Amino acid sequence: MQYEPVIGLEIHAQLLTQTKIFCGCSTRFGLPPNVNVCPVCLGFPGALPVLNRRVVELAVRAALGLGCTVQTTSIFARKNYFYPDLPKGYQISQYESPLATSGSVELVVDGVSRNVGITRVHLEEDAGKSLHEGFSDSKQKSYVDFNRTGVPLIEIVTEPELRSSSEAAIFFESLREILLALEVNNGNMEEGSLRCDANVSIRPAGQITLGTKTEVKNLNSFRYLQKALDYEIQRQVTLLDEGGVVKQETRLWDTVVGRTASMRSKEDAHDYRYFPEPDLSPLRLERSWIDQQSQELPELPKQRCQRLMTQYGLSFYDASALGQGRWGGGDYFEKLVASGAEPKVAANLMLGDVKRKMNELGHQDLKNFVQRIPPLQLAGLLKLVESGSISGSIAKEVFEKMYSTKRLAGDIVRDEGLSQIDDRTELLGIVREVLKNHPGPVAQYRGGKKATLGFLVGQVMKATGGKANPKLVNELLRGALEEKT
Ligand code: ADP
Ligand code: ZN
Ligand code: MG
Repeated sequence: MQYEPVIGLEIHAQLLTQTKIFCGCSTRFGLPPNVNVCPVCLGFPGALPVLNRRVVELAVRAALGLGCTVQTTSIFARKNYFYPDLPKGYQISQYESPLATSGSVELVVDGVSRNVGITRVHLEEDAGKSLHEGFSDSKQKSYVDFNRTGVPLIEIVTEPELRSSSEAAIFFESLREILLALEVNNGNMEEGSLRCDANVSIRPAGQITLGTKTEVKNLNSFRYLQKALDYEIQRQVTLLDEGGVVKQETRLWDTVVGRTASMRSKEDAHDYRYFPEPDLSPLRLERSWIDQQSQELPELPKQRCQRLMTQYGLSFYDASALGQGRWGGGDYFEKLVASGAEPKVAANLMLGDVKRKMNELGHQDLKNFVQRIPPLQLAGLLKLVESGSISGSIAKEVFEKMYSTKRLAGDIVRDEGLSQIDDRTELLGIVREVLKNHPGPVAQYRGGKKATLGFLVGQVMKATGGKANPKLVNELLRGALEEKT
């Protein structure tokens, strides 16, 4: 049976505030356990939460950046459940009246763009952390660290509109970029500042109704998200093919063995006994204030992509590849062009040699590269190619040397005698030499096998250390081959 996977994500993003959502405790990461705590975030009886204004500003900015409609009234609710790291016995979240609804985020897969719906964005507090490892008595005991309790989060819920594990991973990456561009989240997945629960079901291809979903909790890397989904999709396919049924449940991804395992049967919303938080009044926002926030949004990846297309005449593919990812390709590209490079040439260079170099070095972005070759210097290299001083293949060699020695392109070309050979007489001598040494291919060419020309061009280039002007070589070779012998 052919099945189609259906995936929806729930993403938790920590907002970049100094203090927690309902108290003045610090949100700083990495401190000794239980130092960022007070009666409010420890849930002492009678301690009252007070909403942090900055949290609201950042959440609204995030929601607007995700194309959502921000509601003028949203309501905090108690989500009741027991967990050792949840000292109040409930989490303050938003339920029936979330902060924002119905947004969308662009998803680009293989150069093709479509929008994925954002169901809602709501505010909530984070729970603490149970520590099951790292202590001498960890076999007998677990510890709890409440530093994270009450740290501000937004939960972003997508529509079930993703159709494969790789789409889900790409979507999560794009979302991360948007949050980074908005400066609302630090994108640090290792520290758990950005994490994702993946909901997945399968259905026979062509069926409209959705299958029963499972939810895989707390995936903190793009790779794990993709792998966990691959595993889970295959598990469900096997189950259905064997005549079984998928049970609605919450599962955990085990990074060590590479599979998901059941954690608990999925509770329904009514199990949480949601009710409006009596200690907080509804959050009311002025429409004019929301509009103002909307005006002040920074340029987002999608807008940058559009601008790169219109301003520099790039294709959608090039523009999105440059603007996408936090590798800094877009910034570098714009500086390269400002330094005199031709946009299309600059884009090719960025997406070819520069990106390759970055990958080869195992770097995630161009921070280190910029130190070795600033845009102005790379533009200098392009000018040498454009003016015909050096060939494209020599340019690659000079590029490598610029990176390893931090010298200027012009200096390298001069000091190492890499200038292009444009001298007809000199080249003709070499051409004749090559023809003499390869009588076989020459006879083939003259017998009508014109493709042999490529081989002979290669030989001339080799003989000149790649320095011969390729156009001239072609011309001279053709001329010499057509000569009567
Ligand atoms: P729950 O109440 O179980 O949390 P929601 O309706 O709130 O379920 O949806 C949670 C997430 O699961 C959303 O991202 C949604 O798109 C996704 N989702 C809902 N139904 C399905 C399904 N049948 N298959 C895959 N994903 C789904
Ligand atoms: Zn506190
Ligand atoms: Mg839900």
